[in-house]
Amino acid sequence: MLRLLGVVILLLLVVTAAVFASPTTNRYDVITTELKGLEAAHSTIAQIFSIGKNNEGVDILALRVSVTPQQIDPKKVGHLLVATHHGNEPHAALFAIAFIRDLIKRFESDELWTSYLPQSEWTIIPVLNISGYNEDVREEYDIDPNRDYPNPCLPQESVGKLASVQRLMELFDTRTFSGSITVHGYLKSLSYPWGTFATSDKTLDHSEYDRIFAKAARFNGYPYGTGTSVVYSANGCFEDWVYWRHGAWSMLIELDSGSPSDIKKTVRAVASYFDDLSSSPSNQHEFSATCTEGEGIAIE
Ligand SMILES: [Zn+2]
Repeated sequence: MLRLLGVVILLLLVVTAAVFASPTTNRYDVITTELKGLEAAHSTIAQIFSIGKNNEGVDILALRVSVTPQQIDPKKVGHLLVATHHGNEPHAALFAIAFIRDLIKRFESDELWTSYLPQSEWTIIPVLNISGYNEDVREEYDIDPNRDYPNPCLPQESVGKLASVQRLMELFDTRTFSGSITVHGYLKSLSYPWGTFATSDKTLDHSEYDRIFAKAARFNGYPYGTGTSVVYSANGCFEDWVYWRHGAWSMLIELDSGSPSDIKKTVRAVASYFDDLSSSPSNQHEFSATCTEGEGIAIE
């Protein structure tokens, strides 16, 4: 009897160890399969690559779309879309896939010969927070990935704790990105820097941002403005970091419901945003406001 009990306990330990060593991967597997299918069907313009491994040693996959997708071409204008910092916002990953499908369609249409597309290179990361996505939780290892980026109002040592965030920051060492999008849900807004706690939320590019976003928002009817004015102030967010640190034009999407029609209209809004952007990053992206105290509210 004791021996039988011992065997049962051993089996339980083995299963528990297996579960913790390899958390549920079903949801990310679905996205991976989707990416591989798109790559196989459109290999001349779409290639999968890894931006590196997260804390669990899992590769964070990206898709590169360009007329020469096998490698980075620094002469092309770089654009980035990263979704699913928060694992419990699953429509962000679906949005990234819908965006890829639309982009591929444009690359395979006559638009390729009448637009800037041949001179552009796109990097799309559908899921940054893989374990959170699989478990349907906001955080990654109990850390909010979208509060883990340096900004002028945070001490350096308090951020960059997650490997996924480190890998995404390192991606910016591989090439210049002119335009950037990050996708969340479900507050229905399009926003641009600043979103950090400061005496002013206006960048030196405020009027240019306002012009570009007004046009983009016509496609989906979303409210638009600075992160602070249409979402809420928060510290350590990707959308501020990418502009402050690299000058990349920055859009944060908060999807509405994430329904098929919401996604379709927002894909058009995003296409308008990218079409309208300058082909190079801003050269006046410094932070000129004064930081104020604040912790940020963890809602979306
Ligand atoms: Zn979010």
